[in-house]
Amino acid sequence: MRILIIEDEMTMNRMLSEVLKEFGYQNDVAESLADGRYYLDIRNYDLVLLDWMLPDGDGIDLIPEIKEKRPKTAVIVVSARDDKESEIAALRAGADDYIRKPFDYEILQLRIEAKLRYGGSNIIEIEDLIINPEEEKIIYKGESIELKGKPFEVLTHLAMHKDQIVSKEQLLDAIWEEPEMVTPNVIEVAINQIRQKMDKPLGITTIETVRRRGYRFCFPQKA
Ligand code: CA
Repeated sequence: MRILIIEDEMTMNRMLSEVLKEFGYQNDVAESLADGRYYLDIRNYDLVLLDWMLPDGDGIDLIPEIKEKRPKTAVIVVSARDDKESEIAALRAGADDYIRKPFDYEILQLRIEAKLRYGGSNIIEIEDLIINPEEEKIIYKGESIELKGKPFEVLTHLAMHKDQIVSKEQLLDAIWEEPEMVTPNVIEVAINQIRQKMDKPLGITTIETVRRRGYRFCFPQKA
Protein backbone atom coordinates (compact mmCIF):
# COMPACT_ATOMS: atom_id res chain seq x y z
CA MET A 1 0.00 0.00 0.00
CA ARG A 2 1.41 3.32 -0.99
CA ILE A 3 0.10 6.69 0.11
CA LEU A 4 0.91 10.15 -1.22
CA ILE A 5 0.83 12.96 1.32
CA ILE A 6 0.33 16.42 -0.19
CA GLU A 7 0.79 18.85 2.65
CA ASP A 8 2.90 21.98 2.81
CA GLU A 9 3.25 22.27 6.54
CA MET A 10 6.55 20.61 7.37
CA THR A 11 5.85 19.46 10.91
CA MET A 12 2.54 18.03 9.81
CA ASN A 13 3.81 16.19 6.75
CA ARG A 14 6.80 14.72 8.61
CA MET A 15 4.54 13.54 11.39
CA LEU A 16 2.08 12.05 8.91
CA SER A 17 4.86 10.31 7.04
CA GLU A 18 6.27 8.80 10.26
CA VAL A 19 2.89 7.68 11.54
CA LEU A 20 1.90 6.13 8.22
CA LYS A 21 5.19 4.26 8.11
CA GLU A 22 4.46 2.90 11.58
CA PHE A 23 1.09 1.73 10.32
CA GLY A 24 2.89 -0.07 7.52
CA TYR A 25 2.14 2.23 4.61
CA GLN A 26 4.87 3.27 2.22
CA ASN A 27 4.52 6.93 1.49
CA ASP A 28 5.86 9.96 -0.32
CA VAL A 29 5.56 13.58 0.70
CA ALA A 30 4.76 16.40 -1.70
CA GLU A 31 4.66 19.99 -0.49
CA SER A 32 2.81 21.66 -3.34
CA LEU A 33 0.38 20.92 -6.15
CA ALA A 34 3.27 20.79 -8.62
CA ASP A 35 5.13 18.33 -6.41
CA GLY A 36 2.00 16.25 -6.04
CA ARG A 37 1.48 16.11 -9.80
CA TYR A 38 5.08 14.99 -10.23
CA TYR A 39 4.62 12.02 -7.90
CA LEU A 40 1.21 11.12 -9.29
CA ASP A 41 2.78 10.96 -12.69
CA ILE A 42 5.55 8.55 -11.77
CA ARG A 43 3.97 6.36 -9.12
CA ASN A 44 0.81 4.47 -8.44
CA TYR A 45 -0.90 5.32 -5.15
CA ASP A 46 -3.67 3.55 -3.33
CA LEU A 47 -4.57 6.70 -1.48
CA VAL A 48 -3.80 10.41 -1.45
CA LEU A 49 -3.97 12.54 1.68
CA LEU A 50 -4.61 15.99 0.34
CA ASP A 51 -4.29 19.32 2.10
CA TRP A 52 -6.56 22.06 0.81
CA MET A 53 -4.49 25.21 1.06
CA LEU A 54 -1.21 24.72 -0.74
CA PRO A 55 1.37 27.32 -1.76
CA ASP A 56 0.52 27.04 -5.45
CA GLY A 57 -3.23 26.57 -5.26
CA ASP A 58 -6.17 24.61 -3.90
CA GLY A 59 -5.66 20.93 -3.21
CA ILE A 60 -9.21 20.11 -4.23
CA ASP A 61 -8.44 21.22 -7.81
CA LEU A 62 -6.24 18.17 -8.05
CA ILE A 63 -9.00 15.68 -7.25
CA PRO A 64 -10.56 15.49 -10.75
CA GLU A 65 -7.08 14.96 -12.22
CA ILE A 66 -6.35 12.11 -9.82
CA LYS A 67 -9.72 10.50 -10.43
CA GLU A 68 -9.38 10.75 -14.17
CA LYS A 69 -6.00 9.06 -14.26
CA ARG A 70 -6.55 6.55 -11.47
CA PRO A 71 -10.21 6.10 -10.66
CA LYS A 72 -9.43 3.58 -7.93
CA THR A 73 -7.09 5.81 -5.97
CA ALA A 74 -8.87 7.08 -2.86
CA VAL A 75 -8.55 10.75 -1.93
CA ILE A 76 -8.95 12.02 1.62
CA VAL A 77 -8.93 15.78 2.03
CA VAL A 78 -7.35 16.89 5.29
CA SER A 79 -8.07 20.52 5.98
CA ALA A 80 -8.26 23.20 8.61
CA ARG A 81 -11.45 24.47 6.97
CA ASP A 82 -14.06 23.36 9.42
CA ASP A 83 -17.22 24.68 7.79
CA LYS A 84 -19.85 22.51 6.21
CA GLU A 85 -19.58 24.28 2.82
CA SER A 86 -15.90 23.37 2.47
CA GLU A 87 -16.57 19.77 3.30
CA ILE A 88 -19.37 19.65 0.74
CA ALA A 89 -17.17 21.31 -1.90
CA ALA A 90 -14.42 18.73 -1.36
CA LEU A 91 -16.82 15.80 -1.55
CA ARG A 92 -18.46 17.27 -4.65
CA ALA A 93 -15.04 17.61 -6.26
CA GLY A 94 -14.70 13.85 -5.85
CA ALA A 95 -13.00 13.38 -2.48
CA ASP A 96 -13.76 10.06 -0.81
CA ASP A 97 -13.55 11.49 2.66
CA TYR A 98 -12.93 14.73 4.54
CA ILE A 99 -11.02 15.06 7.78
CA ARG A 100 -10.83 18.29 9.70
CA LYS A 101 -7.65 19.50 11.31
CA PRO A 102 -6.64 19.03 14.03
CA PHE A 103 -7.32 15.32 13.89
CA ASP A 104 -6.53 12.28 15.95
CA TYR A 105 -4.02 9.93 14.32
CA GLU A 106 -5.86 6.82 15.37
CA ILE A 107 -9.03 8.07 13.74
CA LEU A 108 -7.06 9.01 10.64
CA GLN A 109 -5.66 5.49 10.48
CA LEU A 110 -9.13 3.95 10.75
CA ARG A 111 -10.48 6.26 8.07
CA ILE A 112 -7.58 5.33 5.78
CA GLU A 113 -8.12 1.62 6.41
CA ALA A 114 -11.79 1.98 5.65
CA LYS A 115 -11.08 3.69 2.34
CA LEU A 116 -8.49 1.15 1.34
CA ARG A 117 -10.82 -1.67 2.21
CA TYR A 118 -13.85 -0.39 0.35
CA GLY A 119 -12.25 1.96 -2.13
CA GLY A 120 -11.67 -0.75 -4.67
CA SER A 121 -8.29 -1.58 -6.02
CA ASN A 122 -5.97 -0.82 -8.86
CA ILE A 123 -6.06 -4.34 -10.27
CA ILE A 124 -4.76 -4.52 -13.82
CA GLU A 125 -6.54 -7.02 -16.02
CA ILE A 126 -5.34 -7.64 -19.56
CA GLU A 127 -6.95 -10.61 -21.24
CA ASP A 128 -5.80 -13.68 -19.29
CA LEU A 129 -3.32 -11.74 -17.20
CA ILE A 130 -4.31 -10.24 -13.86
CA ILE A 131 -1.88 -8.15 -11.81
CA ASN A 132 -2.96 -7.24 -8.31
CA PRO A 133 -0.57 -4.58 -6.95
CA GLU A 134 -2.02 -4.57 -3.44
CA GLU A 135 -1.62 -8.26 -2.83
CA GLU A 136 1.49 -8.52 -4.99
CA LYS A 137 -0.12 -11.27 -7.02
CA ILE A 138 -0.07 -12.25 -10.66
CA ILE A 139 -2.55 -14.68 -12.13
CA TYR A 140 -2.32 -16.00 -15.66
CA LYS A 141 -5.12 -18.24 -16.92
CA GLY A 142 -6.06 -18.95 -13.35
CA GLU A 143 -2.55 -19.93 -12.37
CA SER A 144 -0.58 -17.93 -9.84
CA ILE A 145 2.91 -16.69 -10.82
CA GLU A 146 5.75 -16.36 -8.34
CA LEU A 147 7.12 -12.92 -8.95
CA LYS A 148 7.68 -10.62 -5.99
CA GLY A 149 9.53 -7.51 -4.90
CA LYS A 150 11.17 -5.19 -7.39
CA PRO A 151 10.53 -7.33 -10.49
CA PHE A 152 6.86 -7.32 -9.54
CA GLU A 153 6.86 -3.56 -9.13
CA VAL A 154 8.67 -3.06 -12.43
CA LEU A 155 6.11 -5.23 -14.20
CA THR A 156 3.23 -3.38 -12.55
CA HIS A 157 4.65 0.02 -13.43
CA LEU A 158 5.16 -0.93 -17.06
CA ALA A 159 1.70 -2.47 -17.26
CA MET A 160 0.20 0.73 -15.90
CA HIS A 161 2.00 2.66 -18.60
CA LYS A 162 1.00 0.24 -21.28
CA ASP A 163 2.16 1.14 -24.78
CA GLN A 164 4.53 3.82 -23.50
CA ILE A 165 8.28 3.56 -23.52
CA VAL A 166 9.51 3.90 -19.94
CA SER A 167 13.18 4.70 -19.42
CA LYS A 168 15.40 3.08 -16.83
CA GLU A 169 15.64 6.39 -15.01
CA GLN A 170 11.87 6.66 -14.83
CA LEU A 171 11.65 3.14 -13.44
CA LEU A 172 14.31 3.86 -10.84
CA ASP A 173 12.53 7.04 -9.75
CA ALA A 174 9.20 5.31 -9.54
CA ILE A 175 10.20 2.16 -7.72
CA TRP A 176 13.41 2.51 -5.78
CA GLU A 177 13.28 4.43 -2.51
CA GLU A 178 16.73 5.88 -3.12
CA PRO A 179 17.37 5.73 -6.87
CA GLU A 180 20.72 7.47 -6.49
CA MET A 181 21.97 4.60 -4.34
CA VAL A 182 21.62 1.90 -6.99
CA THR A 183 23.04 1.36 -10.46
CA PRO A 184 20.69 1.19 -13.45
CA ASN A 185 21.55 -2.46 -13.98
CA VAL A 186 19.15 -3.34 -11.14
CA ILE A 187 16.48 -2.69 -13.77
CA GLU A 188 18.04 -5.19 -16.13
CA VAL A 189 18.14 -7.71 -13.31
CA ALA A 190 14.45 -7.13 -12.58
CA ILE A 191 13.49 -7.39 -16.26
CA ASN A 192 15.48 -10.58 -16.54
CA GLN A 193 13.62 -12.04 -13.57
CA ILE A 194 10.28 -11.19 -15.16
CA ARG A 195 11.34 -12.97 -18.33
CA GLN A 196 12.76 -15.99 -16.56
CA LYS A 197 10.08 -16.47 -13.93
CA MET A 198 7.05 -15.46 -15.88
CA ASP A 199 7.38 -15.01 -19.64
CA LYS A 200 9.47 -18.10 -20.29
CA PRO A 201 7.43 -20.67 -18.36
CA LEU A 202 4.17 -19.23 -19.71
CA GLY A 203 5.41 -18.84 -23.26
CA ILE A 204 4.40 -15.19 -23.43
CA THR A 205 6.19 -11.86 -23.88
CA THR A 206 5.22 -9.04 -21.55
CA ILE A 207 8.08 -6.59 -21.91
CA GLU A 208 10.10 -5.53 -24.88
CA THR A 209 13.41 -3.71 -24.77
CA VAL A 210 13.46 -0.55 -26.84
CA ARG A 211 17.07 0.09 -27.67
CA ARG A 212 18.63 3.04 -25.86
CA ARG A 213 15.22 4.26 -24.75
CA GLY A 214 13.88 1.81 -22.21
CA TYR A 215 11.15 -0.76 -21.95
CA ARG A 216 7.60 -1.17 -23.08
CA PHE A 217 4.83 -3.42 -21.85
CA CYS A 218 3.70 -5.31 -24.91
CA PHE A 219 1.24 -7.93 -23.74
CA PRO A 220 -0.67 -9.27 -25.53
CA GLN A 221 1.62 -9.38 -28.51
CA LYS A 222 -0.10 -8.44 -31.71
CA ALA A 223 -0.11 -11.25 -34.21
CA1 CA B 1 -1.66 24.03 3.92
